[in-house]
Amino acid sequence: MSTPSFDDLWNAVTLWAEQQSALILAQGRALTPAELALARQVGVTQPERVRVLTVPEVPFPDDPTLRALADQVGLFPERTGGMTLGHGIFMRDDQAARADIWPHEFRHVAQYECFGSIKTFMFFYLKELLHFRYGPGPLETDARAAESYT
Ligand SMILES: [Zn+2]
Repeated sequence: MSTPSFDDLWNAVTLWAEQQSALILAQGRALTPAELALARQVGVTQPERVRVLTVPEVPFPDDPTLRALADQVGLFPERTGGMTLGHGIFMRDDQAARADIWPHEFRHVAQYECFGSIKTFMFFYLKELLHFRYGPGPLETDARAAESYT
């Protein structure tokens, strides 16, 4: 298997993220009044569009190329408590009681709003993962900085 180009990875990640986001928006719940307020506090401009789908495990792509990418950058399903895809948030049921996870995921929503599309967000997020691996890059650092808002 040849090494995929950045554009191949970007397109594949974007397609997967758009599909999963649509699933969350169709099946997820709206935010509670307290969650709406918290989302606004960390910079979400359209918190009424956010949906949360509680899941036993946050889904990862089945595509072997994307699974290998996740491994390579240090993203592991068993260590993932939440994942934000546009205005959709996957929340693992055993992590939902954590106070820090909500402002973190809401801040990712604000980042998507800033970039204007899942595709544009994924351009920068994928660059960040490939350069820094998962954790120390600017978008994750920005989301972690929001964790103290509760
Ligand atoms: Zn994050």
